Amino acid sequence: MRIPFFLFVSATVLQAQTAELETYIEVRSGTLPIILTVPHGGSLKPDNVLARRYGVTGTDANTVPLAEMIIEELEKRYGGKPHAIISRLHRTKLDPNRELEEAAQGDPTAIAAWHRFHDSAQKACDTVMKKSGAGLLLDIHGHRHLDQRVELGYLVKGDLLKRSEAELNGDAALIAATCIRELDKRSPQSFAELLRGPQSLGGLLEFRGIRCLPSPSKASPGFMASYFSGVYDVAAHGSRSGGTVSAIQVECPWNHVRDTPEHQRRFAVALAESLGVYFEVHFGRKLK
Ligand SMILES: [Zn+2]
Repeated sequence: MRIPFFLFVSATVLQAQTAELETYIEVRSGTLPIILTVPHGGSLKPDNVLARRYGVTGTDANTVPLAEMIIEELEKRYGGKPHAIISRLHRTKLDPNRELEEAAQGDPTAIAAWHRFHDSAQKACDTVMKKSGAGLLLDIHGHRHLDQRVELGYLVKGDLLKRSEAELNGDAALIAATCIRELDKRSPQSFAELLRGPQSLGGLLEFRGIRCLPSPSKASPGFMASYFSGVYDVAAHGSRSGGTVSAIQVECPWNHVRDTPEHQRRFAVALAESLGVYFEVHFGRKLK
């Protein structure tokens, strides 16, 4: 049977588009109950994708090599890889960490790339839930705020972090609106402890020499100081709207974390070690 010419052409176009999208959004499946999303580390600026006209377009430099090291250090310790979804597009072309309209601004290729990023993240979450029961998504970023700490975002605004432990633990509506909603139910520790106790992610990282916010040493941002509490990725794929995968936005400073390969490695080791303890304490299971 002869294949009609238009069908042949559209199949070829589709194949080319699929290959293009696979280059723009890299998807790696894993075996650990951990998902890494890296939305802002890309450098590709293809001519056929229109430049975004508004919103933030600055790249999170070195977050891709940093994520590679985190993957390696997790594998070394726990014998498996995390799932990873990495945007290779420069943020002037796509911002996956925003709603579709602001993210792609009408460009058809950027729209398709956004869908690939989020469909893949959701698929990874579904796999983790099916295979491991529950898990954690870390959305990896970089910031240049004056106070050079790793900012951990739980969808709790900086001014709310100023509250006392009792106030935080007593605010059911606030807890339900965070991306660790399900983890709060699962963990034997309180919500405030999950945010800034010694075994919070900030506490575990600080114990390994990485300054964090929130953490036992820094409960909330200083007066007028900037702090990123989380945006689209953690809201869309964390446990705020259901499911058993919780999410944390990990905003890495430039100094001492992203600036050199040695510092990137040191952070990756600290994070991998911390996650082992974090899973035992809060998820009640070993990563291995
Ligand atoms: Zn970012």
